[in-house]
Amino acid sequence: MTQWQNTEQQGHAVTHNIGLMHHAMMDQEMANFINAENKRQQDHIELIASENFVSRDILMAVGSILTNKYAEGYPGKRYYGGCEYVDQVEQLAIERAKSLFGCGFANIQPHSGSQANQAVFLALLNPGDTILGMSMDAGGHLTHGAKVSLTGKWFNIVSYGVHPVSHRLDMDQVRDLAKKHRPKLIIVGASSYPRVLNFKEFREIADEVGAFLLADVAHISGLIVTGHHPHPFPHAHVVTSTTHKTLRGPRGGIVLTNEEGLAKKIDGAVFPGLQGGPLMHVIAAKGICFKEASTPEFSHYIRSVCDNSAALGRALTQRGYHLVSGGTDNHLLVVDFSGSALSGQAAQQALEAVRITANKNGVPNDQRSYVQTSGLRLGTAAVTTRGFMAADMDIIAQCIHQRLNDLGGPVDAVIKQVQALCRTYPLQ
Ligand SMILES: *Cc1c(COP(=O)(O)O)cnc(C)c1O
Repeated sequence: MTQWQNTEQQGHAVTHNIGLMHHAMMDQEMANFINAENKRQQDHIELIASENFVSRDILMAVGSILTNKYAEGYPGKRYYGGCEYVDQVEQLAIERAKSLFGCGFANIQPHSGSQANQAVFLALLNPGDTILGMSMDAGGHLTHGAKVSLTGKWFNIVSYGVHPVSHRLDMDQVRDLAKKHRPKLIIVGASSYPRVLNFKEFREIADEVGAFLLADVAHISGLIVTGHHPHPFPHAHVVTSTTHKTLRGPRGGIVLTNEEGLAKKIDGAVFPGLQGGPLMHVIAAKGICFKEASTPEFSHYIRSVCDNSAALGRALTQRGYHLVSGGTDNHLLVVDFSGSALSGQAAQQALEAVRITANKNGVPNDQRSYVQTSGLRLGTAAVTTRGFMAADMDIIAQCIHQRLNDLGGPVDAVIKQVQALCRTYPLQ
């Protein structure tokens, strides 16, 4: 795997730990910060559900000279000269994306998951149109209609939630809202929903009201391509994803579809609708990611991610914690502090002090503000890349419990355990 060489003995130099590019950075000020971040990644247990550690090949591509090239347009249809090699880069990555997701068309230029979604909105909707998406406290994403996002400002947003007791999607509510509000677009997909999404049923509802169905699988795309979650195709009209979460690629977004007419609109929406020059270095890295994600090793990895997530859920439940929906089917879980004195924000900060990184998160019917929240989201994609196994999840749960159960107490003993785990599974 990874990453920046640990350069403690080399003074300030940040050095690519990769043959051809062995080159120390001249900018010492910036190198210091990158080195510090490298050390933080080594020394902390990373439980942010949307993060991961990329392979050395991916890191190399992202750090490559492809960043120098302007390539507005698409392979064979560029606005600038000198694109013969980047055309091959992008075409190869497109073919790999289509093969990985089993679909007819792929746009791999969006700079992020949010921009992939925006491209879909620009391609399919007009300002003022109605979108039906998942509310944020139920697990939805900002771009699915939050007031502060472009979607909330430019579209008429109707939100569905989850059942107040089971915390599972309430498909009757989705259907009722769809029939009442006749959205032009229904979005299925989430950032903190620990259960399986039923794409088929969403499509049936979309068909009943004549809406497009967008499946935003930003979090679960790694599970989908390895068969650990049902596939959004053939149900969704359009699928968007990030490439940097469970897919373990570079930071970026993709838009997929099987319909040629939609594909043309989406291409036009990404460029020239939303973006200028594509990030060719990131596109090359996405191509590597798609290849890596099609290997048996990657399937095995995702299996372990899900096993670890289930093990972490069990270990926390045994210690008296409540989980949103009572458990998890995927790579993440949300600890529910509703009714306890602890907020998500306080838990996040307390764990930070013992080098465990996670993020506060809303829970269904959260009584606290978006700043405080009543939940803590934990994911196992990153630690599993380091090699952590199910037995280690029990140690992590023990560390979390020791810390949260004694907020005023000493932190040294917990830090020691975290250190020992991180040393057992170094990032290389
Ligand atoms: C992470 C995420 C996104 C956005 O990805 P960015 O790359 O951060 O813009 C979109 N949708 C969902 C469901 C996500 O979880």
